[in-house]
Amino acid sequence: MFPFMFDWTMILILPALGLALWAQSKVKGTYRKFSEVRSRLGMTGQQVARRILDQNGLHDVPVEPVAGELTDHYHPGERKIRLSEGIYGSTSLAALAVAAHEVGHAIQHKTGYQAMTWRASLVPVANIGSMAAIPLFFIGMLVPAFTWLMDLGIIFFAGAVLFHMVTLPVEFDASRRAVAILGNGSFLAPDEVQGAKRVLDAAAWTYVAAATMALLQMVRLIILRNSRN
Ligand SMILES: [Zn+2]
Repeated sequence: MFPFMFDWTMILILPALGLALWAQSKVKGTYRKFSEVRSRLGMTGQQVARRILDQNGLHDVPVEPVAGELTDHYHPGERKIRLSEGIYGSTSLAALAVAAHEVGHAIQHKTGYQAMTWRASLVPVANIGSMAAIPLFFIGMLVPAFTWLMDLGIIFFAGAVLFHMVTLPVEFDASRRAVAILGNGSFLAPDEVQGAKRVLDAAAWTYVAAATMALLQMVRLIILRNSRN
């Protein structure tokens, strides 16, 4: 696409690319494995999400099915939990882990968990940043009169990097809450909790990989800018 995509600084993002591919295969493999393991509880992802929400006074947060695989999320604006088809009606350990994780986000929202508030306010910054940063940067690189656009591009990209960084504590905390709730005695036996934890740990690596990729991309942009000046 761009000739400058293949300069030596590409080497910088190879470790992040490797980490991303490894995390993807790890999350797919772990998810597939624990999708086959039924919990002895016998409740579906939807039922478990409903029960944990109710136990936390979140009676007004609905749990809805959504199309796709691993499309599960909590929507803070609509205050809704959406569970993918493979999670919603499944009684597997993977389903209960993901369902409890999404409820973890709803609880974060209710309690005003600081990193989640920051993350929400960074969403527009990250959207603009990830759309505009690279085009701005490369216009600055190619048009001598507009070299300052490279700096603007880097500033925009930094917004997206910050978003990825703030996402990490939000995701880790939601998983920590999920494991604690599932293991509190009313849902899963200790050996089952370990399976649920492995699913969430694997998912956490995809966020680490995305943050690493964004950070190294920014380092790469800074090196390219400095080599032009
Ligand atoms: Zn999450």
